[in-house]
Amino acid sequence: MKTRIFKDTIEDIRKAGEIIAGGGIVAFPTETVYGLGANALDEDAVKKIYKAKGRPSDNPMIVHISQVGDIYDIADVSESTMSKKAMENLRKCSDAFWPGPLTMVLPKKGIVPLTTTGGLDTVAIRMPSHKTARMLIESSGCPIAAPSANLSGKPSPTTAEHTLDDMDGRIDAIILGSDCQVGIESTVVDMRKDEPVILRPGRITPEDLSNAIGGIVLIHPSLKKKDMSQKDVDLSQNMVARSPGMKYKHYAPEAEMQVFISDANDRAKALRMAESECNRLKTMGKKPTIISFSDGIEAAHDLFRRLRDADKAGYDVILAVGVSDDESGGVGFSVMNRMLKSAGYNVKKV
Ligand code: AMP
Ligand code: MG
Repeated sequence: MKTRIFKDTIEDIRKAGEIIAGGGIVAFPTETVYGLGANALDEDAVKKIYKAKGRPSDNPMIVHISQVGDIYDIADVSESTMSKKAMENLRKCSDAFWPGPLTMVLPKKGIVPLTTTGGLDTVAIRMPSHKTARMLIESSGCPIAAPSANLSGKPSPTTAEHTLDDMDGRIDAIILGSDCQVGIESTVVDMRKDEPVILRPGRITPEDLSNAIGGIVLIHPSLKKKDMSQKDVDLSQNMVARSPGMKYKHYAPEAEMQVFISDANDRAKALRMAESECNRLKTMGKKPTIISFSDGIEAAHDLFRRLRDADKAGYDVILAVGVSDDESGGVGFSVMNRMLKSAGYNVKKV
């Protein structure tokens, strides 16, 4: 398939919107990572996304909207499906974080096909802050289902170049925009109960959410496991497809990857260990590289880009220095969720 290359201009975004309205699929920038979008209400269009990504079809997609009021077209928010408190939380969170990198899981309306939600009776909704993304949604005239625009299993693309690497020739069009500001995917929160449950950590932290609703926010148990010998833990057994992204191989570079974490959150010590391992691997004829970050925000912004760049540069081992969970107000926790998955939980504690 010939992929049309669009610029981040009003004229090109309109053309991309026409493609989506006509049942095609388009990659586009958002503030989190690049997304691969289709009309969320068109089953055949959504199927094209699964095919282009090579994504398992029970992995649900986030539906992107351009105005808060659009929630009610696709989600069944009413006293028969949600408590008063849960509805209040929804309003508080949309006020506080939208447009932005927060995805809220709500009961779905019949209009949203099960193909979009991976067979679930809920729909995950986000209103992105990136202007191009919102303009695209508006001009297409429909909610846009969009997972990250990577081949399934690979790190999410956070630059136009990385999106092209994975999707050129597989989709109808790509809008080339700037690098993604956040760099990791949105925080996903199940909003149906009185106490929201975080299903995927992101730039918006549990503390941010708790402050916004003035109440308790829970963290899904599968995210909390601190024992890094998780390699053998089958997350799919843990909680039935509540957030199915949890159960697949994710974010993995081609290179072998190992994460160095210091018990006392002493990053300098972890870095020294990574350096010594790097030297050892070199003497064995390997081509290792080290990635480390100065804080949680930078780590979120750069992690996926650095993994992809390391693959492109031909490194065969990536030695990553972990950040502490409380780094940058808790963003460190979200980064480590991605970093550990990228490495298949291959962790060295020092
Ligand atoms: P991606 O678009 O690749 O970032 O993946 C979207 C992720 O959002 C999925 O892998 C799930 O973790 C989560 N998600 C989407 N829809 C739902 C839903 N209805 N319920 C729970 N989690 C969801
Ligand atoms: Mg993804």
